[in-house]
Amino acid sequence: MQVNRNHATQPNDTQPENALASLAHERAILESALDCIITIDSHGAVVEFNPAAERTFGYRREDVLGKEMAQFIVPPALREQHRAGLARYLTTGEGTLIRRRVEVTAMRSDGSEFPIELTITPATANGETLFVAYLRDITERKHAEVEHLRLHEFERAARTEAEDRERQLRAVFDAMTDGVAMYSEDGRIISINPALRRMIGADSHPQYEAMPLSRRTAWLELSDSTGRPLRMEQWPPARVLNGEALVGERAADIIAHTLDGRDIEFSVTGAPVRDSAGHVIGAVCVYHDIAARRLIERQTLAALRALMRCADVVTAHTTSETTMDLLSRLAAALLDLEAADFTHALLIDSDGRPQPAGIHGVTPEDEAIWRRGLAQFDPANAPHLDKVAAILATGKPLLQLFDADSPLISTVTVASLHVRAAITGPVLVDGAIVGLLTISRTRPLEPGSATFFAPWDVDLIADVGRLAGQAIAQARLGEQLNSAEAGRLAAEEAARQRDEFLSIASHELKTPVTSLKLNLQLAQRRLGGLRSTGDQQSLETLLGTLLPRTNDQVDRLTRLIDDLLDVSRIATDKLALRLEPCDLTEIVNLVVREQRQHNPTRDISLATPTETVRLCADPDRIGQVVTNYLTNALKYSPEEAPVEVRVTRDDATARVDVRDFGPGIFATEHDRIWERFYRAPDIDVQAGSGIGLGLGLYICKSIIERHGGRVGVESARGEGSRFWFTVPLLGTDAQSGCAGDPDAP
Ligand code: ADP
Repeated sequence: MQVNRNHATQPNDTQPENALASLAHERAILESALDCIITIDSHGAVVEFNPAAERTFGYRREDVLGKEMAQFIVPPALREQHRAGLARYLTTGEGTLIRRRVEVTAMRSDGSEFPIELTITPATANGETLFVAYLRDITERKHAEVEHLRLHEFERAARTEAEDRERQLRAVFDAMTDGVAMYSEDGRIISINPALRRMIGADSHPQYEAMPLSRRTAWLELSDSTGRPLRMEQWPPARVLNGEALVGERAADIIAHTLDGRDIEFSVTGAPVRDSAGHVIGAVCVYHDIAARRLIERQTLAALRALMRCADVVTAHTTSETTMDLLSRLAAALLDLEAADFTHALLIDSDGRPQPAGIHGVTPEDEAIWRRGLAQFDPANAPHLDKVAAILATGKPLLQLFDADSPLISTVTVASLHVRAAITGPVLVDGAIVGLLTISRTRPLEPGSATFFAPWDVDLIADVGRLAGQAIAQARLGEQLNSAEAGRLAAEEAARQRDEFLSIASHELKTPVTSLKLNLQLAQRRLGGLRSTGDQQSLETLLGTLLPRTNDQVDRLTRLIDDLLDVSRIATDKLALRLEPCDLTEIVNLVVREQRQHNPTRDISLATPTETVRLCADPDRIGQVVTNYLTNALKYSPEEAPVEVRVTRDDATARVDVRDFGPGIFATEHDRIWERFYRAPDIDVQAGSGIGLGLGLYICKSIIERHGGRVGVESARGEGSRFWFTVPLLGTDAQSGCAGDPDAP
């Protein structure tokens, strides 16, 4: 398309000077305009292209004049749109770009595209429609705008992030279980989290937070861990504001008497907040409630103490202590545990029934409830008993929470004593449950603690139960060993007594037999001599001395043999009694008379009651007992010491006492001297010749007991002895049955 270059500038004024002036004016505007001014005709051909346009698009005016503008300044992609728009305007008079400020993309001579701001104004010159476009490179502005937007976006994102952070921090601050407070330079609280507010009881005193430090010290009492009150400058925030960092080892342990009157222990850490120049402008302190730590310390100590006591109890357990006592003492030791409000032990008998061994930490009334509850315990009312037994049989303790859970087994005690939780540990011996140890908790949870028991309490009960089981098993083994040992010792003792008896018996029998033999030999020799001399007188003298001596020896032998026979009769239950009504005084009188005859030098006194002492007895056997007591008294006491015999009676019983002033007998021997063959080791025969076989008292005891009486000795070493026996008096109604010996065949 060819466009007349001068066409658009052709003056149409009739006044040439005016027209020239106007033209020059127009030219000047075009030349100096900062914006690009491009005029095209209705064919789209360039009729004006000012210097700004030349600079912006990189074309020279003369190169573009008359050519279609779209070909060099409209980017190829937009050219058809541009042409269609032009054509539409020319036919309809409407155009989307006309007389509006729009932003579109243009293209430079080097093909680069860039944003422009554009206004198109149609004009008519010489009847032809022209379009004047004012346009401006807005690359810079666009850049600035984008940058602005970016900055704006950045700032918004930063702000959102900061807000999120703050919200997060706030949430953390609020959710922290530790108390946190921030302080201004002058010690005022700038911020305090709910935990700290709760800890110090500030919820009930909202004005507290606004107070300066100097006034707060009058409200809240702080002291060190030993209870010494802290002065204001010793308060943790004051120390931190003073530049001190309370961290690690330097954390301050303090006790606070709170605004609502509690005492709590804190560990306080804190750090100063400094400005860029390093000046302290505030402080942050974290308050950690150490009740839980203290609780754990207390629990640990208590557990150690309980364990030591249990170990003492277990190691001291011997065969002489019953299992019941052991269990009870262990339960008492477990009371040392921090969590234990009371403890109890049950013995499980061989039928599986629980027996009370001991309860500790309760009142006598509560103990009575416990014992009653156990006595009335009915397995039928414990549906989970099998399950419980199965758990305990594995050696594992059972932990039950009666507050929350539905416990496996609950008892009268649990309900009546308000037990909240309990641990029951089994004591097993050879796989069988022989005992149960239980620690019960009635107090509510400690503040800051989530469980009723320390984590190791269950293990501790298990261990103590196991130790107890071992101790019981060991004691049982010891008992078996002991009884085996006792059996062995008894057999040894029996063998020793037998040997001793044989040696004494042979000696005892030999003595009279030897002297009998000597007497007989002597008699034989003398008789031989006398026969030859025929000395009748000497013969009689000889017989007069030898015969009584021989008779004594025979008597002594007879006594020994009688004793042995009696013992064998007693052993075979064949000691025959010839019961008949008789008088005890008479019997004793006779014996005393005999003994006075045999021992004419001895002082034997006799005291008898005035009334008769009638018995239903075998008078020979009773006489044998009295003889034995009396000969012992004479035998074991010195020649010159008197012996006293006394007969007494009351309404139903007769009693004989034989008192001597001999060596006396140790109390430890009092029972044993009545045993067969027993002879007190350190008592020597003091008078007479017989020493005895240790059978006399045994026979006496048997005879008296066969008469329904009792025997005894009162004696102390160095004070002589009193041997006594009692027998029932002859009752009137019993008289008829006393005709003969009921035991007689
Ligand atoms: P024995 O034949 O040895 O006397 P007994 O059975 O009569 O036997 O007595 C048993 C033991 O009791 C005696 O060996 C002696 O040690 C002690 N005994 C008995 N009577 C007396 C007494 N009157 N004084 C001291 N000890 C006595």
